[in-house]
Amino acid sequence: MAENRDPYEVLGVSKDASAAEIKKAYRKLSKKYHPDLNKEPGAEEKFKEVNEAYEILSDPQKKAQYDQYGSMGGQQGFGGGAGGFGGFNDFGGGAGGFEDIFSSFFGGGSSSRSRNAPRQGRDLQYEMTLTFEEAIFGKKTSIEYTRNALCKTCDGSGAKKGTSADTCSKCNGTGVIQVARQTPLGRVMTQQECDVCHGKGKIIKEKCATCNGEGITREKHKVEVNIPAGVEDGNQMRLQGQGEAGQNGGPYGDLYIVFNVKQSKTFKREGPEIYFSLPISFVQATLGDEVMVKTVHGDVKMKIPAGTQTGTTFRLRGKGAPKLRSDGNGDQHVTVKVQTPKNLNQKQREALKSFAEASGEKVTGEESFFEKLKKRKKR
Ligand SMILES: [Zn+2]
Ligand SMILES: [Zn+2]
Repeated sequence: MAENRDPYEVLGVSKDASAAEIKKAYRKLSKKYHPDLNKEPGAEEKFKEVNEAYEILSDPQKKAQYDQYGSMGGQQGFGGGAGGFGGFNDFGGGAGGFEDIFSSFFGGGSSSRSRNAPRQGRDLQYEMTLTFEEAIFGKKTSIEYTRNALCKTCDGSGAKKGTSADTCSKCNGTGVIQVARQTPLGRVMTQQECDVCHGKGKIIKEKCATCNGEGITREKHKVEVNIPAGVEDGNQMRLQGQGEAGQNGGPYGDLYIVFNVKQSKTFKREGPEIYFSLPISFVQATLGDEVMVKTVHGDVKMKIPAGTQTGTTFRLRGKGAPKLRSDGNGDQHVTVKVQTPKNLNQKQREALKSFAEASGEKVTGEESFFEKLKKRKKR
């Protein structure tokens, strides 16, 4: 892995950047340095760095650890320990049906000198859009995408069925040969790619017809995904080994699912906490009442005490979203908005006037204000 750079610096955000700001910066930079789009030298490294930074900053637990200790200890980088999202790699059954963008990630290994060393396959990224409710309650689904996989006919050897690849005799399977070169300073031994096997270390006499000797084919791959309850916008989920096939016997890369969670018209959500605004009449606020309040878990009875002021927030315990990393739910916070009545009829107006009188309050009202104005003009 690259040197451990400050993830905030990598994404170009401040230490107190919001999750949305972090996600925005990540999107911009991952597009900019995407190896399929940016062929400049160093872009791939940069791309990896951006992804590593995002993996830390998009995960509240890892972010908190980084903020506190300034490093990720033993678990920095991809492939690091399964910190936090413990049960995240389980698969379940279910039906698919999202509109998704699928994009290829970065090459697994660096352009190593020993070309025939085992190399891990590319990681892939999958963007998945969830409704507000799906993110709260989780979902079992399956996704399908095209990836490079080991050829099923030859199991990745590239040799025709029933035959096998031979170790290259010129390079003894190393893929490189020593060559003596005459230079002004004398004879120098240099290493170069074996010209017989082209660095592969093996010779395929009869090529597999399915993959034409490459050992790798494009395949449609289906994966069952069990989205845990309580995921949030920008969360990432890693499915180990669901990326592309490795080379020379190296392992498959991983699949990263990035969640896009749609907003709700009714609720606002911050982690497990849900916020809801409830309009009530001034009579309800004054005399108190019992009302039904919408929650993501269904309607719930709530008591409004007599004399409730507008802007007062009540808490419905356990009626928020599930906590991703622990048991239980957050709460729903209900803020009441007392509505001032409009367009009163005669009877309502009189009732309010007598209420004012009973309170010893002198309210002139709109009409008498205009009356006064008229009188003033006459003067
Ligand atoms: Zn094959
Ligand atoms: Zn060779």
